[in-house]
Amino acid sequence: MSNRSILVIYTGGTIGMMVDPESKALKPFEFKNLQQQLPMLPLIGADITFKDMLPLIDSSDTNADFWIRLAKMIGEEYDHYDGFVILHGTDTMAYTASALSFLLENLAKPVILTGSQLPLGVIRTDGRRNILNAIAIAAEYKDDKPMIQEVCIYFQNNLYRGNRTYKDNASRFNAFSSPNYPKLAEVNTNIEYHKSFIHVEEPVKPLVVHDKMDDNIAIVKLYPGIRHDFLQSVFATPGLRAIVMETFGVGNAPTNPEFIQLLKETVNKGILIVNVTQCKGGGGVEMGRYLTGKHLADVGILSGHDMTTEAAVTKLMFLLGQYQSNEKVKQKIENSLCGELTIE
Ligand code: ASP
Repeated sequence: MSNRSILVIYTGGTIGMMVDPESKALKPFEFKNLQQQLPMLPLIGADITFKDMLPLIDSSDTNADFWIRLAKMIGEEYDHYDGFVILHGTDTMAYTASALSFLLENLAKPVILTGSQLPLGVIRTDGRRNILNAIAIAAEYKDDKPMIQEVCIYFQNNLYRGNRTYKDNASRFNAFSSPNYPKLAEVNTNIEYHKSFIHVEEPVKPLVVHDKMDDNIAIVKLYPGIRHDFLQSVFATPGLRAIVMETFGVGNAPTNPEFIQLLKETVNKGILIVNVTQCKGGGGVEMGRYLTGKHLADVGILSGHDMTTEAAVTKLMFLLGQYQSNEKVKQKIENSLCGELTIE
């Protein structure tokens, strides 16, 4: 039995939603009304405090300000609790988990995001098990050290490194995938931790909560026949500092001279272009493998390696917020800050 103290922050999302009598659509309600759906909470043996982060939102409304507010809330409570569980909508949970992993530097306690596909008040809800297991994992300490010392997503029996995940299913209970990094734990009759993949923060340093992000970025998903005038207008967005470019396969893109010239001009203007693959199921960018990738490296496109788009976007917002100079960001983006990419 554990007597760890856990703060559960409810931000919104399906897990705490009910049908709004006016619109007849699902909308988040204060979590205290829903705690009665969790009669077995005391069995976990932890001291659990619930807090709503107002205004409650559907996670489609998250943005950089929201991530900074959430990071600050964790920072303010960091010394008062042994672990944190964030209840969040599934739609953008992977973005929030990625953003928090960058904003919470030196994190040495568990921050576990979870949610559900069906609201807690619904008979077949997946929310009850998700929340109980997420709290149990956040409360798991060994030799007075937290088992988990990083930002994770717990969903349908699996614990993932947050900045490696993406939502890959809108209807199955198993909504998340982490194709390029193994699960950190699996919940069956026992909770089996895969220790060799879990980050250990050593030495433990004071938590640094970063409070700046810069959202002057764009995502460009390439497709065969993409129009040049469309690309030109996106690349000419005023104030734009960086682009996440989703390419084909191991980081390949069209070779027509007009496109290459546009990339060259954009890079020469100081705008960073980070190459991530559209292949969501696994693998990363290797720009030297095909000629259709090599020309990208030749004009100065940066490799996103095996980062998810979610990690690339939030990492860029984070780094651009920390540094005025894109040159500094360029030095950092291709390296791992907190386990979000693998360099072979
Ligand atoms: N639209 C909801 C949200 O992301 C979906 C969910 O929670 O599963 O807030």
